[in-house]
Amino acid sequence: MNIGFVGLGNMGLPMASNLLRASHRIAAYDVSPAAIDAAKKAGIRTVSRLEEVAEEADAIITMLPAGADVRKVYLGDGGLVATVSPRTLLIDTSTIEVEVAREVGQASVAAGIEMIDAPVSGGTGGAKAGTLTFIVGGSAAAVERAKPILQAMGKNVGPTGHGQAAKQCNNMVAATSLIAVCEAFAMAERIGLDSRKLFDVMSTSSAKCAVLLELCPAPNVVPDAPANRRFSPGFRAALMLKDLRLAQRTASAAGASTPLGALATELYALYCGAGNGGMDESGIFTMIRGEQKEGPR
Ligand code: NAD
Repeated sequence: MNIGFVGLGNMGLPMASNLLRASHRIAAYDVSPAAIDAAKKAGIRTVSRLEEVAEEADAIITMLPAGADVRKVYLGDGGLVATVSPRTLLIDTSTIEVEVAREVGQASVAAGIEMIDAPVSGGTGGAKAGTLTFIVGGSAAAVERAKPILQAMGKNVGPTGHGQAAKQCNNMVAATSLIAVCEAFAMAERIGLDSRKLFDVMSTSSAKCAVLLELCPAPNVVPDAPANRRFSPGFRAALMLKDLRLAQRTASAAGASTPLGALATELYALYCGAGNGGMDESGIFTMIRGEQKEGPR
């Protein structure tokens, strides 16, 4: 198939690479010259204008930071809704506000174009390995159309409905458990408990969870963890803060009480506010443990 891809960042680039590997023909676009260079190095055909992505595309995938970016790419000047042919399927895989997903979905349908939202879980590791989970929302027919494309990038597609809200619930748990894991490793440091030994215990006990296994914040415990490369992302803390704020809005609108989610939001706001938004989400470890030059007290 001819597939357009917009947004070649930490997630988009490995996802587009998997589509290329599955023999799809790609036309990829990003506003960042560095992202375009990286895509070219990966053998992906890039274009210099958004409008060119629409040409001859059977489907277009967007993987953008936030709702404002998705709205711009879909509804802005030269945006997808105005330029694609009605036979093109639009798939947004970004994590954004439910209302923006609905807005761009309705605008697409009004222009006679099928669109689904399909936020992902699985992180950059899942994106590289092609094992992402797509949490899809949209008409059953459009989801069926998207399945063979999504299956080149992930192993789970579904369930349909409430895609963005389900993703927000997931990331609220990921953030709160990541902070709890950081607290445990910071405490271990204070009492002189070896990080690897703590990992060996927790990874085979009731504290075992995805963030521990993939993002252990102590360096050189888990292969490929951001902690091993001074917390370069991965998943930027600013994007986790965005997701936590989305979850707080959804919880508040629904009258749901999420005290741990609220606290996690405040801790990520503090971490990002101190200039760390570009660090990996697990970099919050450095804030949790503080400066400990004096050793255990
Ligand atoms: P990123 O910042 O690494 O990449 C986003 C890319 O979009 C950048 O290259 C940027 O230049 C590009 N972009 C921004 N505006 C654009 C525009 N108008 N037109 C074209 N390109 C544009 O972000 P990421 O980590 O790849 O995350 C993307 C989305 O996926 C976010 O919504 C995030 O919450 C979600 N997500 C990320 C992860 C992760 O582990 N990184 C996991 C699950 C979901």
